Amino acid sequence: MTPNLLILAGTTEATALGAAVAEAGLRGVVSFAGRVERPKRQPLPQRIGGFGGVDGLREYLRHNAVTHVVDATHPFAAQMSRNAALACAAENVPLIALTRAPWVAQVGDQWTHVPDIAGAVAALDRPALRVMLAVGRMHLAEFAPNPQHFYLLRLVDPPQTPPPFPDHHVLVSRGPFTSADDRALMQDHAIDLVVSKNAGGTGAYAKIEAARDLGLPVIMIDRPAIAARAEAFSVAEVMAWLSHDADRGV
Ligand code: NAP
Repeated sequence: MTPNLLILAGTTEATALGAAVAEAGLRGVVSFAGRVERPKRQPLPQRIGGFGGVDGLREYLRHNAVTHVVDATHPFAAQMSRNAALACAAENVPLIALTRAPWVAQVGDQWTHVPDIAGAVAALDRPALRVMLAVGRMHLAEFAPNPQHFYLLRLVDPPQTPPPFPDHHVLVSRGPFTSADDRALMQDHAIDLVVSKNAGGTGAYAKIEAARDLGLPVIMIDRPAIAARAEAFSVAEVMAWLSHDADRGV
């Protein structure tokens, strides 16, 4: 049977997989949550917006005769990953996650680990600093309890509402970033501290290298827990998984 994929997107890996799937002449749809205003162009058809929970996703899988799901969401998109696991199990649709290993502290890194956004907010309950807050615009409001800091905000899209801090600077950029540029950026804004999610991968790593080079501390937000699942760490692994299933007639 020719595979008909649903790729749950939002990452550069999802875009790369879409290109490989299109190149191989397979069918598939790339799905975005709609968090960014201009998602990257895809060589496969795309859809935007939630499915309506597990039941909505089950209905989508049935209605569109999806044969395989690849969860290539951001490592912090835990709700979507949970929903995909439950919906695929219920509909008996094979699922694999295309994911990336978390970053691991290197010599010279000064990381304080916190379990979630609330932990990062608590860690900022201290006298005023100049903070690079790299958590995405969805989470800015959660930092309102600490308005004493200057915040450097680098966002993919402009904030929808004014950030809840009197002293901030917004930089709208999608990257890619280099560690040299991020070092210069941190120096220009006299940054004392960086707050980052442990996204893993290369796309967002420049600021971590820059902080290391400048001897700056990082509040590192650890990933949400996700139940054990089949995982791939490259597009090639996912393509091999698909052809293995196709060979077995799944
Ligand atoms: P989430 O909390 O896991 O998902 C919330 C809901 O959004 C899901 O239940 C689903 O709605 C919808 N959704 C998420 N991903 C989807 C996709 N690929 N296609 C269709 N619907 C999708 O994820 P999130 O709200 O996007 O973000 C959670 C964390 O990940 C945040 O910290 C965010 O900054 C980070 N993050 C996300 C993205 C991204 O592209 N999504 C990129 C970078 C960072 P229904 O239940 O209605 O189906």
